[in-house]
Amino acid sequence: INFNKAEFVLSATTQNAFIRDGRPQVTFAGRSNVGKSSVINRLLNRKNFARVGATPGKTSQVNYFRIDGKLYFTDLPGYGYAKVSKEERDRWGRLMESYFQEPGLISLGVLIVDARHKPSADDVTMCNWFKEAGCPMLVVANKVDKLKKREVEPNLEVIRQTLELSPDTPLVPFSAEKGDGKTEVLSLLSQFFA
Ligand code: GDP
Repeated sequence: INFNKAEFVLSATTQNAFIRDGRPQVTFAGRSNVGKSSVINRLLNRKNFARVGATPGKTSQVNYFRIDGKLYFTDLPGYGYAKVSKEERDRWGRLMESYFQEPGLISLGVLIVDARHKPSADDVTMCNWFKEAGCPMLVVANKVDKLKKREVEPNLEVIRQTLELSPDTPLVPFSAEKGDGKTEVLSLLSQFFA
């Protein structure tokens, strides 16, 4: 898979706009501001592809990027932003419910968490949605550049325990800013879709 060949396809704001064309989908989820856009941009070698620094939680939409004509990176709307209105939060909930309930949409889940912190209750909920969907998943611990070297392993252990990850679920320390973890994530994706 050539991850440098990526194109934006569409933003879905309703269930009937979800893409169902049989191509596998790698579905990215994460709290607003965790750096999800930055991680996607880093993986795809782009600067401003997925929107970085967009007003958090402003619009609930599922963004689709087609990779090398073969699969999609599916970018779910961020969650956990305090200043979002009740209406927007409800819209987000309905959209996510329809996304996670529909069988076969997700080939591989990628949950992005902050390497510095214990995962939030929302992170745990999102992780459980992936588990319930029955898809394999991997967890990316972003912003690892903000940690001291000796803090990395203990923090990863807290993340693994809080999310109750099975031993075979990869947990990758990552820095969208510096590039750490990029090779590992891309190689996991390549293996998965080989
Ligand atoms: P999103 O809301 O999850 O899509 O987050 P963004 O990609 O917009 O990033 C939120 C903020 O975190 C921005 O200011 C980014 O520059 C910053 N950021 C993202 N990834 C990293 C990282 O790996 N390290 C550091 N230090 N900052 C990051």
